[in-house]
Amino acid sequence: MPRRTLAQKFETKNIYSFAKRIFHHRSFFVKLFSTSNQVGNRKSMDKHRLLGIFAHPDDESFGPGGTLAKYARQDAEVHVCIVTDGAAGEVDPTYLDQSGVSNLAELRAAELACACQALHATCHSLGYGDSGMGGTARNGNQHNLHEVDLDEVAHDIAALIQKLCPEVIITHGPNGDYFHPDHIKVHQAVMRALTFEDVRNLESLRVYYSAIPYSQMKWGIRLLRLLRKDPTKFGENGDVDLTRVGTPNDEITVRLDVGPYFEIKRAASACHVSQGGGGGFDARWIPDYVIRRLSRYEYFVQVFPELSESKVSLFGEA
Ligand SMILES: [Zn+2]
Repeated sequence: MPRRTLAQKFETKNIYSFAKRIFHHRSFFVKLFSTSNQVGNRKSMDKHRLLGIFAHPDDESFGPGGTLAKYARQDAEVHVCIVTDGAAGEVDPTYLDQSGVSNLAELRAAELACACQALHATCHSLGYGDSGMGGTARNGNQHNLHEVDLDEVAHDIAALIQKLCPEVIITHGPNGDYFHPDHIKVHQAVMRALTFEDVRNLESLRVYYSAIPYSQMKWGIRLLRLLRKDPTKFGENGDVDLTRVGTPNDEITVRLDVGPYFEIKRAASACHVSQGGGGGFDARWIPDYVIRRLSRYEYFVQVFPELSESKVSLFGEA
């Protein structure tokens, strides 16, 4: 299969036709998927601009969804770039039929559109193949993100960064949050893009990865054990070992109170029905007040420019 041009990767025609069927509202769609070239010069902007770069549809909501919702409501312009089509994994064929789509990639694009509407974010898709978790059959497919040349991905990401000129970028951590190969690749691609002069010289650019501090992770693991759940087999597929996840507390740069935006994060997460729809928020065995308490803060580590002291805002100086 020939390599696609960048223009083809930003092509949203397929998503467009599907979203039109789903939402029956053209103006909403145009707003959500706008790929106009009117942006690019930060000096002409009067709004803060934030870009989240994530591997799969749902990472934007299950991860720092509260932060995206918060800044969008505080009048920042929020963009979400999803690097893969999210087509790894299984879905009930009946559910595909009911949704009026022919494959999982179309379904996940529609779920993402729903989540971005809830968050008030503009979506961008790079359309690489989803590699699935490490050690699964999809890993070796040459079109999947894990197998694609890092520079190719980095150049695609750099082109979007240069087009949008964000002040803040949020992405995955170096260990892929929970060692997911696509998350790791996206982190590496963002860091590689930062070595390109045109990107690293953008005015006031700050790059963060979202993190869970060890203290909170330990609290969560203790709770799971109390509830007789195995923290080493967490998640929809039981393939996440929470005892290996987390960031030392003293490495956290920003702790954001996103409590007031919990319901928005929950609504955005609920759009991802094919992925369980809850991101952990609908776990009936955890009391709602505990879920709210665990979700009250979202945490970030600043990786560019490097910064060791803490601060109170992603946009703020130290
Ligand atoms: Zn993911």
